[in-house]
Amino acid sequence: MTNDNSRLRPLAVSRRDLLRFAVAGATAAVTTPRTVSAASAGAVKIEEPFDGAIVHHRHGKLSANGLTITVSGTAPKSEMVTVNGQLARREGDTFIGEVVLRQQVTEIVAALRGDSLRGEDRVQVVWDRHSRPRYHFAVDDNSFFLRDIARQKYTSLFDCFYLKTFRDLHRKYRTRFSLNVYYAADDGFTLTQFPDRYKSEWKDNADWLKLAFHAYADAPARPYQEAPAEKLIGDYDLVAEQIHRFAGAETFAPPTNLHWSMATPEGLKALRQRGVRVLSGYFAKIQGRWDINYNFDARRSEYVSKHDLWMDFQSGIIFIRDAIVCNSTPVDQVAQTLDPLAREPDRRETVNLLTHEQYFWPFYRAYVPDHVQRCEAAIRWATDHGYQPVFFHEHFLGGPE
Ligand SMILES: [Zn+2]
Repeated sequence: MTNDNSRLRPLAVSRRDLLRFAVAGATAAVTTPRTVSAASAGAVKIEEPFDGAIVHHRHGKLSANGLTITVSGTAPKSEMVTVNGQLARREGDTFIGEVVLRQQVTEIVAALRGDSLRGEDRVQVVWDRHSRPRYHFAVDDNSFFLRDIARQKYTSLFDCFYLKTFRDLHRKYRTRFSLNVYYAADDGFTLTQFPDRYKSEWKDNADWLKLAFHAYADAPARPYQEAPAEKLIGDYDLVAEQIHRFAGAETFAPPTNLHWSMATPEGLKALRQRGVRVLSGYFAKIQGRWDINYNFDARRSEYVSKHDLWMDFQSGIIFIRDAIVCNSTPVDQVAQTLDPLAREPDRRETVNLLTHEQYFWPFYRAYVPDHVQRCEAAIRWATDHGYQPVFFHEHFLGGPE
């Protein structure tokens, strides 16, 4: 007990000591022979930024040196704390320091430098150096339009009202669309039955229209929530092979969303190896538990729900919250759903607009007659608020690296 009390006693720190830590930084810890006690390992905790935070010019101070951001957290009162080697300011249990981000990924180390109490905490942050307002439009659950084109044998892909709808929106707003497709429809149709005679037309439109994997089929729900990575990748490869066959490599894109937005950590790693760099989900608390969130824990899910973006360093994939689900948002509620994203100070510069194919089709049981208007209202909002259309799978969330 005596030992514990002495740890909490304020340290008498001379100016000379402060300078030594400020200058020598982490080196001092290495050269000074002290042991880190197990009890003190969690004594220093970085609260801001969050591990995996993706920051841009609105989150710090931009200069020729890089982006200066504030780092804060908690540590026992009056103990010395350094942040990447620089002495942090203390305010009670809080410590506050600064770090200059110079490259895309920076590790931040907060270290407790007390005479008897040692410990450290680490986080990594991503700097979106060239960030600007941009949006991506994804349509999930696709199979009906491919079946329709295969059966109707149209002269052009855009004789199908569904693709014509997207081309009209593209011509009006320059929107880019990612259509996430199933391998099989509910009546036995599969992508193997889609002809390759539209290949040149797909390629001609590949600068704004992409096809990507979504799932093997609409049912069962949550197909990859607990599935082994081999099942997920097996389905992925089936769809990828067919898209390449009938639409060419130019049209193929890695998916930005899986059906039901659930996967295992192994599944996510396998997707990253296939070139997936970003995935979206609802990251919503439904009936008391976080869901449609790729199985991440409550702490991370809540973070994405509030900040929209987060890098999972374990898989190497960026996760983004869907800003709106157009099919379930009436036209007069679109602006109020999206407006908070454009408010200062933490303005979102990346916005994912999402909808689902089935609600476009009159034969579907839950057909939404004004679905096109709902999508257009979301696109118009993004356009009016200065967001540029991009594909999130390209480069760094659609912007330069
Ligand atoms: Zn889906």
